[in-house]
Amino acid sequence: MNNFDYLKAGNIQDAIGKSESGRKSSYIAGGTNLLDLMKYDLAHPTTLIDINHAGTQDAVTETENGGLRLSAFATNADTAWHPLIEERYPLLSKAMLAGASAQIRNMATNGGNLLQRTRCYYFYDANVPCNKREPGSGCSAIQGYNRIMAILGTSEHCIAVFPSDMCIALAALEATVNVEGPNGPRSIAFADFHRLPGDTPELDNNLLPGEIITSIDLPPQGFSDHYSYLKLKDRNSYAFALVSVATGLEMEGDIISNARIALGGVAHRPWRVPEAEEFLVGKTASEANFAQAADIILRGAKGYQYNDFKIELAKRAIIRNGLMALNPETQVPGALPSA
Ligand SMILES: Cc1cc2nc3c(=O)[nH]c(=O)nc-3n(C[C@H](O)[C@H](O)[C@H](O)COP(=O)(O)OP(=O)(O)OC[C@H]3O[C@@H](n4cnc5c(N)ncnc54)[C@H](O)[C@@H]3O)c2cc1C
Ligand code: SF4
Repeated sequence: MNNFDYLKAGNIQDAIGKSESGRKSSYIAGGTNLLDLMKYDLAHPTTLIDINHAGTQDAVTETENGGLRLSAFATNADTAWHPLIEERYPLLSKAMLAGASAQIRNMATNGGNLLQRTRCYYFYDANVPCNKREPGSGCSAIQGYNRIMAILGTSEHCIAVFPSDMCIALAALEATVNVEGPNGPRSIAFADFHRLPGDTPELDNNLLPGEIITSIDLPPQGFSDHYSYLKLKDRNSYAFALVSVATGLEMEGDIISNARIALGGVAHRPWRVPEAEEFLVGKTASEANFAQAADIILRGAKGYQYNDFKIELAKRAIIRNGLMALNPETQVPGALPSA
């Protein structure tokens, strides 16, 4: 057992101040990831700063541009079930409800979801080399059992995937992450928030020390008419994605006028390829066109033996989810698309 101090922050500035004065401090929200990391002896904060009351827990508020703002301190459950999210951003609601379990979603916060760490088995085993846990020690997954690992954007130093469901929808929706820190507030486009491993796999994202996520903004376009989130996993409930796809389409008759496709379970961050989305604009939403878009998205994909299957699985998932997005109201969990 490592001793640590526990402090409660009353507001954002209080939290930032406490983090600057704390030795090796860490913010804690729902604790659903951080406490596991501490129990596995992977995180050793000497000061825990409870931020659950640092900001509003009102899950959702309207923004002036017609979008919505999600509080970073609200739970995944309160956000996913919020009537405005269900009505205007059902893609996000569906992705969030595909994650974890009802109990965990009642504790897990939106800010914490963005910062959860990989589920790579070797990362959680402190007895084996892992560059993410201990830079320079090596990567046990590349030659090891790598069924759940990445096929895109990998490096020789790390092939881990980012495990969130919520973030795959946020990537497709082009959300913005609002943060405050010792140097003041700033906003980060979702595409720039998470990182590829490169030669610094220990860094998951571009948050600076002491920065706190305060909210996440959704732009007005929620793709509520044509959307689908498909999560493929080893068992039907309570598992992380092998491959997931968030698709949003705008249609003019039979023709796609706007498309978003983001993949989860395949890379160190949510994976989007704008070229594939542009390819779909002006085309019919056919199996053949989604297949061509999938080929563009998966260009350069590389398997590491036990995860080779993900390349074909991802292609099929992109096609299937594109067809499902056409008629969201007919989606039944586990059902095949009718088209
Ligand atoms: C068994 C299990 C199954 C799961 N399955 C899924 C799944 O299928 N899909 C999925 O998406 N997720 C899944 N999760 C992950 C879960 O969604 C995350 O653990 C949760 O979202 C983290 O939120 P939290 O508030 O508990 O974060 P915490 O554990 O409190 O914190 C996590 C990290 O974020 C930091 N942090 C938290 N909030 C902020 C903030 N506002 N600003 C700055 N730093 C902050 C903390 O310092 C810490 O480093 C699962 C978790 C478990 C335990
Ligand atoms: S894939 Fe990344 S997290 Fe997993 S063992 Fe290799 S370096 Fe560590």
